[in-house]
Amino acid sequence: MHWRIRNAKNSMKDEYLLIGFSHWIMIINFLSKISEANFNPKFSVAAQQIILIIYIEMKASSYNEILPGIYLGDYKAAKHLETLEGLGITHIVIAASDLDPWYQNIINYKQFPQMDSGEALTGIFRQSNQFIKEAVQSNGKVLIHCQMGVARSATLMIAYVMQEMSLDMNRAIEFVGRIRRCINPNPFHIFQLRKFENELFGTLMPYFCKFCCIELFSCDDILHPECNNQENQTIVIKQKEWMPDDFSEATEISCPDCGTDVGEPLTSGYNCSCGQYFDTAAAINKELLTN
Ligand SMILES: [Zn+2]
Ligand SMILES: [Zn+2]
Repeated sequence: MHWRIRNAKNSMKDEYLLIGFSHWIMIINFLSKISEANFNPKFSVAAQQIILIIYIEMKASSYNEILPGIYLGDYKAAKHLETLEGLGITHIVIAASDLDPWYQNIINYKQFPQMDSGEALTGIFRQSNQFIKEAVQSNGKVLIHCQMGVARSATLMIAYVMQEMSLDMNRAIEFVGRIRRCINPNPFHIFQLRKFENELFGTLMPYFCKFCCIELFSCDDILHPECNNQENQTIVIKQKEWMPDDFSEATEISCPDCGTDVGEPLTSGYNCSCGQYFDTAAAINKELLTN
């Protein structure tokens, strides 16, 4: 779900220009009447996606209780003293560099300005998890927030769920997303959560596009890794759902997110050095990957 929303968000600005102001107003008016089930089929797919995003964001609460005494939310919740007092918040985690701690005299704060800095985050996840855990153990209540409670703070919440509930990243995202539906960590956050998963559980790191950080394939997709020569410039993998459907027609394989050519389909199949033949396979350039 979250990739789809992010892609729609990326195209949102263009779509807004395309549909024009009057149509935009029409969509806004329409919003008051729609439910998720009855989209107007006259709208383009992209317009429907925009409606879905706005609808989700309108419906999204300022905060949600993800685990007992642990809330994930936006800046509005963090700034609204009555909300904080009503919930009994004693500790706040700020997952942003540009937001201020408002009530330092009555609430314990921990701020992580690094969330969008491109720095490694696994150390941050551990610090944040410890702060949250200590708060809960002292019978406190915690609010984790950023501007929207969608990406940066959601990432910290997911990291906490991973460590405390021993869930892998996908299950932790699902768990948090079932309660706060608007969560949407960006590709860099996902990359860092995967590294954290690797640290916590020793899971093998998937392979990511070097340019946009999107996850391209996992170790399980590599064909006969045991026969693979480490010196090779390419990794031969199974056909993935983001690749062209018909390998006999395709000449290149592009990253589904940034469009960089990351490899090529092996049009006449793959003969592994051990003698086994695979009729569909793709060769991906190692230099364009990170893991
Ligand atoms: Zn990419
Ligand atoms: Zn082999």
